[in-house]
Amino acid sequence: MSIYEQQDPPVRDTRLSIVDSYSGCGCDFVNCAKEGCMFKKDRSFWQANACQMSLSLMMAATVENSVIILHAPIGCGVQMSTLASNTDSGKLKRGLDNNSVVWLSTNMKKQDIIGGGEKSLRETIRYADKEFRPEIIFVVVTCAPSIIGDDVGEVVKSESENIAADITYIHCPGFKSRVVASAYDSFYHSLIKHIQFEPEPYVDYNPDDFANPYNRGGLVNYQYNKGRTVNLFNATSINPDDEAEIVRLLNALDLNVQIFAEYSSRDKMRFISEAALNVSMCNVHDDYILKYLEEKYGIPYIIQGMPLGKAGIRKWLVSIASFFGKEEMAERICDYEEKRLDAALEEFLPKLQGKRVLLGGGVVRVAEEARMLRELGMDVIGVRAYHYDNGAESVYEELGEELPDVPLAVSTQLFELVNQLKKTDPDIIVEHPGKHGWIAKTGYPSICLFGPGRPFLGYIGEYAFVRNLAFQLENHAFSKKLSKKIKLPYKKEWFDKDPYSYIKEGK
Ligand code: SF4
Repeated sequence: MSIYEQQDPPVRDTRLSIVDSYSGCGCDFVNCAKEGCMFKKDRSFWQANACQMSLSLMMAATVENSVIILHAPIGCGVQMSTLASNTDSGKLKRGLDNNSVVWLSTNMKKQDIIGGGEKSLRETIRYADKEFRPEIIFVVVTCAPSIIGDDVGEVVKSESENIAADITYIHCPGFKSRVVASAYDSFYHSLIKHIQFEPEPYVDYNPDDFANPYNRGGLVNYQYNKGRTVNLFNATSINPDDEAEIVRLLNALDLNVQIFAEYSSRDKMRFISEAALNVSMCNVHDDYILKYLEEKYGIPYIIQGMPLGKAGIRKWLVSIASFFGKEEMAERICDYEEKRLDAALEEFLPKLQGKRVLLGGGVVRVAEEARMLRELGMDVIGVRAYHYDNGAESVYEELGEELPDVPLAVSTQLFELVNQLKKTDPDIIVEHPGKHGWIAKTGYPSICLFGPGRPFLGYIGEYAFVRNLAFQLENHAFSKKLSKKIKLPYKKEWFDKDPYSYIKEGK
């Protein structure tokens, strides 16, 4: 049975060869992965720092006219307030109605855990449909109902006949995967199972037009448009400015662009099958759905690193252009854009030269960014990827060739990061959001690897990133002052050890 036919999606820990514990250097990283020794590594001490449910929630909350039902104890919804404000601003920046995300909780208590929570889930589904009239209801299945064995699939199936909305469920108990990126597969699986990806006759198009032998022009037009349409898959870590920049570059190749699946809607998702090519901006995020769309609709896909840094953008854009026979056009666009970027960066580059930078975050993004920072003349003294899987192999092969001596770790662990900071004393840290409070407490300046406030991808992204780097390198009094007033929660003995001393051989 295909994984897409299964009731619940597999977690990445079983779907892919994946690892979250490694320490070595650029030159032997990929070899270690190819030989399999990397995937045997583990930690004797490990701190959980994220729940995969939260990432699925992040994606579902962006879908227009939807309601989220957390089938959970009330505490699982604690993140909804911050998440809702991010989603609101994301909608606003994309020109969508910024109706705040509607979410409900089944508020599971002791009696639900003992007797089952299906009854309250049914009541909540009917209430959500009647009260809010959404287009889609996402039931988010958390740890508690998964442990007690609530049959959410059956509840969703039977209730779909009693309500007007489309309904699906996201199976994402936080305990089930150590790799939070499993959340992306869970969200896409929920769409694949219950949301329509094909245009609806007499709603989205008139089938009589295509059947009419005197209307050949309509069919030719349709085929022409579909043949130059690209589906671009976005992510929470890709902000509206990034989307605008990438659409700008693809439009310059004379391609139509449809963006899925965040900030989309039931009506828009019916056009997912209407494209010549699916393009990912981040393979960690999208490989699950792109492989499905190829299997189901025969739409090929391109997963090619990320459009970060001049070399990365060129490679990414040319790979898409080559599908449409437009490589030369893409090369010319890149030549022109690089010239403009070089002129704009001139004033900042002297401030960056030779500065020592430590990088941490998503597996593909940090590798692409490390190469970009080297291009800019910075000294990359370490790269920490949140996890590693074989999908990132080609990016790390290139990184290993360009930066063979750079220490490379696979880690989300804060205690390891703080230790590495103290040991390596970088000038600046580029890290995933969520770590910057702790970095500031150690006294080091840092900037976000991505965030909603400014562009990161494409040429505009590189310009904004460099400008921010130069500013932070010059203005780091805040973290210096803060660190003098804060006592870190680590013993002195921890700093005498190697940051990755808890990583051990063999699972
Ligand atoms: S780990 Fe489980 S219990 Fe904790 S927030 Fe996530 S889904 Fe809820």
